[in-house]
Amino acid sequence: MPSPSMETLVSLCKKRGFIFPAFDIYGGLQGVYDYGPLGVELKNNLKAAWWRSMVYERDDIEGLDAAILTHRNVLKQSGHEDTFSDPMVDCRSCNERFRLEPDDALRCPKCGSTDLTEPRPFQLMLKTIVGPVEDSENYAWLRPETAQSIFVNFRNVAATTGRRPPFGIAQIGKAFRNEITPRNFIFRVREFEQMELEYFVHPQEDAKWHEYWIENRLDWWQRQGLASGNLELFEQPAAELAHYSKRTVDILYRFPHGTEELEGIANRTDYDLGSHTRGQSEMSLHARVAPNAFSNTRLAYQRAGESQWIVPYVIEPSAGVDRGVLAILSEAWCEEHLPDGKTRTVVKLPAHLAPVKVAVIPLKRNHSGLMTKAKAVKAYLQSLGLGRILLEDSGNIGKCYRRQDEIGTPFCVTVDFQTIEQDNTLTLRSRDSMVQTRIAVDRIGDALSDRLATSGI
Ligand code: ATP
Repeated sequence: MPSPSMETLVSLCKKRGFIFPAFDIYGGLQGVYDYGPLGVELKNNLKAAWWRSMVYERDDIEGLDAAILTHRNVLKQSGHEDTFSDPMVDCRSCNERFRLEPDDALRCPKCGSTDLTEPRPFQLMLKTIVGPVEDSENYAWLRPETAQSIFVNFRNVAATTGRRPPFGIAQIGKAFRNEITPRNFIFRVREFEQMELEYFVHPQEDAKWHEYWIENRLDWWQRQGLASGNLELFEQPAAELAHYSKRTVDILYRFPHGTEELEGIANRTDYDLGSHTRGQSEMSLHARVAPNAFSNTRLAYQRAGESQWIVPYVIEPSAGVDRGVLAILSEAWCEEHLPDGKTRTVVKLPAHLAPVKVAVIPLKRNHSGLMTKAKAVKAYLQSLGLGRILLEDSGNIGKCYRRQDEIGTPFCVTVDFQTIEQDNTLTLRSRDSMVQTRIAVDRIGDALSDRLATSGI
């Protein structure tokens, strides 16, 4: 099935209430988007799937939800204040300012001119004032990655849970980057969410764990419905590695605008824990740590029965929630030609990601008998903990099915006159096959629980 164009996805997202440009009544704020009623469900389901696989289904990873406002010394010691920048270029012909991509021709993307300034670094972090006095000292950063707050909590988590490497800390949360040219819908934005794991290992086991996490993450994205043919691994060339990385492998996805990064899996070595640790002679620390503004904490561990302190290496799978949502919608969208000559748009989301699991539809609008029954069925299904169940009372049954197909609802349940006047059975319609079957009301809960559990990935 061919991918939809970006315009198709943007318009579906707006029309159906997945994603809106933020503040559009004031003309919008570039690179900032809001998730609507369906978008928030899809995003929450994706995050829940990640959390389940990282924290609940394993025995070596703990969760964290740390502050977004970040102490400036943290991002000073981590190297971000000095090096977290992108190359920026100005066009002398049309004054367009843009980010220079590694493979870009030296040509203005707007007017095509080659009369450009030399590339210069542009600091990507967003600063904010903290406290009542606005001066050069009273600032904090909006974190550009969730990772640093994991590193500075290494000791808190290790001490309170009794963990020693290999173990990980997982976090989902907002990150901010003042991207020079936000573009491609929610692919490159200034406010986004990350799902990050920092997995701490013995320094001699880094390569093995790096391979493990590359494979694990590639497999996980496929379990979210992304076809293996649309995913590929990309080894970042040494010249493009971030300042902290020994090796980074990206998972790329074939987005509507091109094949680009969905997740990065980096070997961050002992760079970050070392940088946040006070210089102590018994520890192998980085020479680049400045002699002031240290933390006072040793972010290291001792193996059982050994006195030597070891700064763990860190393997970091870092995924973008927003890029995940974009990839999943793009993968799930399709247009089908029906036997009656019509076409339908259907978004074939895996059941566990679908914003609405079941729509309960009274056959006729504003009919009190049908509505009473439909409300009771909805309340019952909702109580089963299957996810969101929607009562859809908009009339025309065909239109209701089309709408539910377009928002990815795996099942519809229709309450009709046979239900309330004859045999207490309902119509159960499947999104993908469009097959309709009659089923007794007292069996609908089990039937849907089974189908939802097996029709997901
Ligand atoms: P890119 O090269 O595309 O700018 P990056 O290599 O800087 O990405 P990382 O620092 O590795 O990105 O961040 C981890 C993940 O966070 C990325 O794989 C991506 O999914 C997500 N991410 C990073 N920047 C953005 C952004 N501006 N908008 C949306 N998601 C982002």
